[in-house]
Amino acid sequence: MTVSSIQIDDSCVFHAFLHDISERKRAEERLRLNAAIVHNMSEGVALVQASTETIVYTNSTFDSMFGYEQSELLERPISLVHGSDRKTTELVDVIRQSLKKKGTWSGELVAIKKNGVLFWCSTNISNLRSDSLRSDDVWIAVYSDISLRKAAEENLLQSTEKLRRSNAELEEFAYIASHDLQEPLRKITNYAGLFAESYLGKLDENAQKYLGYIVDGTKRMRILIEDLLAFSRLGSQKICFEEIDLGVLVNEVVNDFSQSIAEVKAEISVTSLPVIRGNRMEIAQLFSNLLSNAIKFRSADVLRIEIGSSTEENEHHIWVADNGIGIEKEYQKQIFGLFRRLHSMAQYTGTGIGLSICKKVAENHGGRIWVESEFGQGSTFHFTLSTRPGEENGSGSQSR
Ligand code: ADP
Repeated sequence: MTVSSIQIDDSCVFHAFLHDISERKRAEERLRLNAAIVHNMSEGVALVQASTETIVYTNSTFDSMFGYEQSELLERPISLVHGSDRKTTELVDVIRQSLKKKGTWSGELVAIKKNGVLFWCSTNISNLRSDSLRSDDVWIAVYSDISLRKAAEENLLQSTEKLRRSNAELEEFAYIASHDLQEPLRKITNYAGLFAESYLGKLDENAQKYLGYIVDGTKRMRILIEDLLAFSRLGSQKICFEEIDLGVLVNEVVNDFSQSIAEVKAEISVTSLPVIRGNRMEIAQLFSNLLSNAIKFRSADVLRIEIGSSTEENEHHIWVADNGIGIEKEYQKQIFGLFRRLHSMAQYTGTGIGLSICKKVAENHGGRIWVESEFGQGSTFHFTLSTRPGEENGSGSQSR
């Protein structure tokens, strides 16, 4: 209210001007609230004069994050809190360009505290006038300390690298061990055979039985070593990819099983399969392992095997379904582990390596493998193959 008085003759007249300022009061209150919110935010906030890149305001989190008193920051360049290494300096240029063009930039940068300690910040800087960079523009810069997350990421990277190296060493060990074990095993097998031949009819019943066990044992060990060698080869050798007509390849694999298919009178149906990029030997091995399992783990019903596929944008999805004995839910993930078997040797022979090989082949082709199964009803093994395997290193072949 503005009041004024005017003297007219003997009288004094008062004028009162009344303005409704409720809107202004509300605006002031909003401003005060906003300022309080910004001041108490858990992120560090600074307002920067765009033309000079000097700090004109900081909230208390910003001050404590960087270890300064506010008075030490005001009118100082914002570069004070940015690392001065080449990468950060280059990044600051990128930020300027982005603010000019888009009015905003967000990303991660290395910041520096007053005591010289460097730390990672997730940062968002916006131009309060987003249309163009003008001399009186102000940037609002919001900083969050992400050094803990960065350290965790770095730890994870290091652990992954350690794991990768120890995996590679283990694979190499398995390869060398299984390779070298072949020689003494060959000797045992040969001499056990010679022994059995030379002493045919001259041994008593027990000796004959024990010799039989030795021969059986060596046969089993040979299969085990061959499988282990096949498995570890998948991780130790260079892989080359080529174009493969899967329909033709699957036909060849099915042909390899023609005798057992005829013996068990299995019905096999193969729907049209795509042309893929892959390693011929590995893919053939994958189908061969899945087919031999489907035959081995058949039920009393007539065995029916169906092979089908679909192709999505980046991957081929292929499945091999059977109506065999099926797998209980709780074991459906485990069976892809090395030496994982669900039956005794007396029930079904095997080494427990076949599905580990399948898993490795799928992974080598940028894919994965899984099973869907109803115990007693049958199993469907699904796997995917990338349409561009091995491209993560920019070539058609991959060295491991
Ligand atoms: P192996 O066949 O030498 O035992 P695999 O690694 O090929 O080893 O398979 C692991 C286990 O998964 C098998 O022992 C079997 O119990 C189960 N399995 C694999 N394929 C089938 C299938 N088609 N039907 C039922 N069980 C299966």
